[in-house]
This record gives sequence, C-alpha cells and structure tokens, in this order.
Amino acid sequence: ATMPPLLSAMANAGRHGVLVKSAVVMERLGQADAVALDKTGTLTEGTPHVTGVHPLPGAALTGDALLALAAAAEDPSEHPLARAVVSAARERGLPLLPASEFTSAPGTGVTATVGGHRVAVGSPARLLRDTGSPAASRAAASAAAMEETGCTAVLVLRDGLPVGVLGIADRIRCDAAATVASLAVLTGGTPMLLTGDNPRAAARLAAEAGITDVRAGLLPEDKAAAVRELERAGHRVLVVGDGVNDAPALAAAHVGIAMGRAGSDLALETADAVIIRDELATVPAVIALSRATRRLVV
Ligand code: ADP
Ligand code: MG
Repeated sequence: ATMPPLLSAMANAGRHGVLVKSAVVMERLGQADAVALDKTGTLTEGTPHVTGVHPLPGAALTGDALLALAAAAEDPSEHPLARAVVSAARERGLPLLPASEFTSAPGTGVTATVGGHRVAVGSPARLLRDTGSPAASRAAASAAAMEETGCTAVLVLRDGLPVGVLGIADRIRCDAAATVASLAVLTGGTPMLLTGDNPRAAARLAAEAGITDVRAGLLPEDKAAAVRELERAGHRVLVVGDGVNDAPALAAAHVGIAMGRAGSDLALETADAVIIRDELATVPAVIALSRATRRLVV
C-alpha cells in the first residue's frame, strides 16, 4: 500500500531517529530559516564532570567538605550540573547529609537546608549579584579564572556567604561543528547559541562549533524572548534544546526539537519533535527530509 507523502516522511524521520509528533510539524521543519541551539546537553554531550574543587580562603572547609556540602544540596536536582556534583562526591566516597526545603530556579541553581545551614549552589553571576563584600569579589575572581578555561563555574554559598567554587566541564559533541555547518547551508544563516551559562564558556564552545552569534547568561524567559524577536523580524525559528530551561523557547519557536536521551520531561512534552538517537546531525537530516516531502506534496 502507498502512504500519503507526509505520513511516509514521518515514518522516515522515525528511521532517522527523530520522533515527529504530527504532520504539521513535519511540514514546519522544512520551513525553518533560522536556528537557535542550546549549549549544555545540545551542543555538548550533557554528561559534565567536576574538574576542580576550590574552597575559598576563610571558609575553613576542605575540598571534600565543600564537595559533600554542594552534593547534598544538589542531590534532589535532575540538572546535568547537579548530577556531575553528586557523582563526584560519590566517586570520592563522601557521605551526603540529607537535604530539606529544596528549591530550584531554572537558569540559576538550587537551595536547600543541609546540616542546619542554608546552602545555595549555582551560577556565580546570579548568586553574587548585589554583594560587594571582599568574600564575594574573591569568589567572583575564582569563578572567572575557571570560566576562562571554558569551564562552567558553580558557586557554593553557606548561609549567604561564598564558601567555594566548583569547576565543571562538558565535552562538545563530535558532530556539533558539522551540524552547525549543515544547518547554515539549509537555512541560509549560521545558527545562534542561546545559553544560561557564562559568556566565557559560551564563547569558547561557540568558536569550536563555528557559531558567531552567542547569547549567554540567559534565563529561560530570555531564551524565549530571543526567539520571539527573530520571529517578529519575519523568521521561522527552529529551536533545539534539552532542559527545563529551554521549554519557553521551544514553545515560542515555529518548531521545537528536544534532545531525547537526557532531555527533561518538560522539554520532551513542549517540543514538536524529539531526537531519540542521541545524534545532533539528525536535525539537518530531518529538515532535508521535510523539504523533499514538500516537493512531492506541492
Ligand atoms: P544551558 O542554557 O546552557 O542549558 P541552564 O540554563 O540549565 O544552562 O543553566 C544555566 C546556569 O545556571 C548554569 O551554567 C549554572 O551556572 C546555573 N545552574 C542551573 N541549575 C543549576 C544546578 N542545579 N546546579 C548548579 N548550577 C546550576
Ligand atoms: Mg541545556
């Protein structure tokens, strides 16, 4: 039996490792003329590792104590950075105190009560805002030095005071630069990078991936605003992301694709299509497939 072209294209996309949620989505994929990519988990592999543990002078904490404190607060979080911190503590065999009153703020970090202290772990830029203390400037300098090497610096605060900085590194996907190049050809412009991470790590990764338009330090709503701005300028934007923090941008896009393997439930639900096989190169493949189908349908 012969299938209608769009349906057979959807089946084909499935064979490429992309779950396309509807026939409308199959068409929209081919209409994209601008692409916005998330960094962590999308352009990078999304399995970061702790590469540095730096207690701040004056905090009177050993490296192990700092890591154990941060891991206890991060334990309830699903964020890839949180998983990295908890794994590092486990690898060192550190016992974790139980955490209570856990809260998380997408794009910023987590807060929890650990051993009677309020512990915050997250973005130095966001957690150090409005604190001009000497301890805060030492923490900012330590974080900046770490970010200079392309790492994500994560700050640890205990009862509001900076006690240490963790350096976390993630590898670029081996198909990132090739995918960026294919997308540039298909959509007539180089993709843009949207990230909540620091500008230094973002710039370094962008250079490796061949991206020049970099927006860093973004909150989830800022990512959506960047997409809406492009849409208002007449573009049909394709967004690729994986995190809870990408959900507003995925929703604002003409068409949104989520990375399935490590993607958050919210991203998978919000996206119009999901990459099942963990390969970024399936994004240009599915755009090309949509275009080929449109030629059949029209
Ligand atoms: P991206 O846009 O690159 O996927 P996110 O928006 O998820 O990144 O995170 C942005 C920044 O917020 C991180 O670089 C980190 O500084 C901070 N952050 C968010 N969640 C956490 C967490 N659970 N632990 C530590 N830091 C976090
Ligand atoms: Mg991400």
